[in-house]
Amino acid sequence: MVQKSNHSISFRLLYLCIILFLTLDLDAIAQVRPALGGASRLYSNALQEMENKNYEQANTYFRQIIESGLPIAPEMPYHFALTLYELGQYDNSLNFVKRYLQINGRNAENYNAAKSLEQKLEAPIKAILECNYCNQQGYRIYECSTCDGEKELHQDCSLCKARGMVGCNQCFGKGIVTKRNVFNLVEYHECDKCGGDGKHTCPTCDGSLKEFTTCRTCQGTGMETTESICNHEAAPRHMSMAFERIKALHAKH
Ligand SMILES: [Zn+2]
Ligand SMILES: [Zn+2]
Ligand SMILES: [Zn+2]
Ligand SMILES: [Zn+2]
Repeated sequence: MVQKSNHSISFRLLYLCIILFLTLDLDAIAQVRPALGGASRLYSNALQEMENKNYEQANTYFRQIIESGLPIAPEMPYHFALTLYELGQYDNSLNFVKRYLQINGRNAENYNAAKSLEQKLEAPIKAILECNYCNQQGYRIYECSTCDGEKELHQDCSLCKARGMVGCNQCFGKGIVTKRNVFNLVEYHECDKCGGDGKHTCPTCDGSLKEFTTCRTCQGTGMETTESICNHEAAPRHMSMAFERIKALHAKH
């Protein structure tokens, strides 16, 4: 019995070793192959665009490298971080400069430059965190126009169709239930679920007639994010939206 279980353990170990070996081997192949191909060409394209100060184009090349899933050159996260800084994508820039320093450590080719980039990012990141008009990535946000920032929408209850009551499903609306007693005779009882009314308070809206659903436009955040980098100043559009809301409130009363 003991021997048998030993066998099965050693068999499992062997099996694991084979799997491990195969995985390592595939990784090794994957690392060698693309070094000669696509990724390094994209990388040198990106560096060329950076030199010409075409950061948008450089960004496109860097994203292609990342999306390709090919191994990333050690200096690439630094250059990508620098590009993102130039494009005002400070949060993402910080992510990549941190990753660069983490992977390459003190011996990194661009260690000092990366450190000073990290310092340069401090002020703009602080500004993003203090600003109410942008999200954590520094993109401009607006109050959701569908739910007015309420995060949810209320509509007529779908279960009771805004009647507040639903038919009792225990007595099927009759208010009375039948039971057979020990003598096999039918007895009539008042339904205990609805108290004989045949209907009871709607369980979905609890009689409020309204149903709350998460706003789908903003997915319950109350905000809509734009693609534009925030300048951390209240925009005229924001002001006019606020005035419109005040106007709408006055019109209701
Ligand atoms: Zn919304
Ligand atoms: Zn009932
Ligand atoms: Zn209801
Ligand atoms: Zn802002």
